Amino acid sequence: MPDFQHVQLPEGDLVKIEDGQPVVGDHPIIGSLRGDGIGLDITPAMQRVVKAAVDKAYGGKREIQWCPIYVGLDGLQKYGEVLPQEAVDAIQYLKIAIKGPFTTPIGEETHVCLHCAHQQYHDGKCDKCGKDDGVAPRFRSINVGLRQAMDLYACVRPVMYFEGVPAPNKYADQVNFVIFRENTEDVYAGHDFERGTDMAKAVIELVKDKTGRQIREDSGIGIKPISVTGTKRLVKKACLWAIANNLPSVTLVHKGNIMKFTEGSFAKWGYELAAEEFGDKFVTEKALWDELDGKMPEGKILIKDRIADSIFQQIQTRPGEYSVFALPNLNGDYLSDAAIALVGGLGLGPGANIGTEVALFEATHGTAPKYTGMDKVNPGSIILSAVMMLNHMGWQEAAELIVGGMRKAIKDGHVTYDLARLMKAEGRGDVTEVSCSGFGEAIVARM
Ligand code: NAD
Repeated sequence: MPDFQHVQLPEGDLVKIEDGQPVVGDHPIIGSLRGDGIGLDITPAMQRVVKAAVDKAYGGKREIQWCPIYVGLDGLQKYGEVLPQEAVDAIQYLKIAIKGPFTTPIGEETHVCLHCAHQQYHDGKCDKCGKDDGVAPRFRSINVGLRQAMDLYACVRPVMYFEGVPAPNKYADQVNFVIFRENTEDVYAGHDFERGTDMAKAVIELVKDKTGRQIREDSGIGIKPISVTGTKRLVKKACLWAIANNLPSVTLVHKGNIMKFTEGSFAKWGYELAAEEFGDKFVTEKALWDELDGKMPEGKILIKDRIADSIFQQIQTRPGEYSVFALPNLNGDYLSDAAIALVGGLGLGPGANIGTEVALFEATHGTAPKYTGMDKVNPGSIILSAVMMLNHMGWQEAAELIVGGMRKAIKDGHVTYDLARLMKAEGRGDVTEVSCSGFGEAIVARM
């Protein structure tokens, strides 16, 4: 057992990985990163709901043993740094963890307060909230740091509709997607060179020298790497998800009509992977029409590809035709946010970042500092992320209880302020605005 300084492992079963899948005992130790800001409110609400669901589903035979891991404000206070190595080591040791949101500095200022996200040019006391134990020197995004430290290469975002949530799309009730976004490559790989720098000039020169083509001298330059390795491991995760959950299709989304050897190759390698790894489990659209007369054989999954711009139309006009998506990083980023908007916004969007062994589930919204500690915000995102986590653990019965409870709570109009406001604006007269913990209780009462 590792010799941790602050992380205290509770009694319980360590999660093991066999053949790439988690093997979970009845009392698994699961990492919990509370999150800054409203992490204080949503994480306990999530744990309460998970406990009630697990108790109800397994009659006391199973129980999660939460292991607190200290990152963000908690990390600063325990270790003097926001992303301590021990936190990364502990998540890697436990294999499964769930996190709240973390503050990310965005402006020019040298310091940021992790209580209220205020940014300033000095350490010590926060000029806004007055607290003197949360001001950290500027740092890089904790979320990106965690992903990179553990090579969590698949960003997974389920998008589903809940009856009663005011949604802008008239086909919202047909939306049931799981988006797999590649997390490590593409224009996010960090090869971004400012106009006029040696690197920018050298690339411009190299292109001219080798191809004879001109790039304007006053250009900034970005490099967009997309590899076979990065593509295939991501598409494999998407295919495995579709198989495990009996889903009808996997769609490879790309802009290969313009970027043949990056985006276009992503689709080509995706098809290759499905054929190499899963044999005839997947049927291509071409085979469907050329060989099968348009009739999908029982138990098979359709694999298709779509150009990125068309998919942004199709998810609005024919969402029922899509199920699992696999995309390179940038388009995956866009599609995740666009898709969640169809069903009424980010409040209820869950997520996870998954690598070869480690899975880190997460609330997808930010720290909403003005609501910290007010027991007010919507804990739906982290609760649905816990649902993903329970499914990942093979505890589907508990996961289903939570989703069912949440569906009923929303349908009954027992919702937090954000949804209450929208529902009332739509003319619903039976809405009961509840607190963050109250929403958790509303779910538990309806399981
Ligand atoms: P935010 O998501 O915190 O807030 C945007 C809006 O949504 C606000 O009006 C907020 O009150 C509301 N909101 C957010 N979560 C809500 C919830 N659960 N229920 C009800 N309403 C909710 O985004 P922001 O204000 O741009 O960022 C605040 C901080 O969070 C910044 O430091 C930012 O970098 C960080 N952030 C972190 C993550 C993450 O850790 N995954 C994601 C986004 C932003």
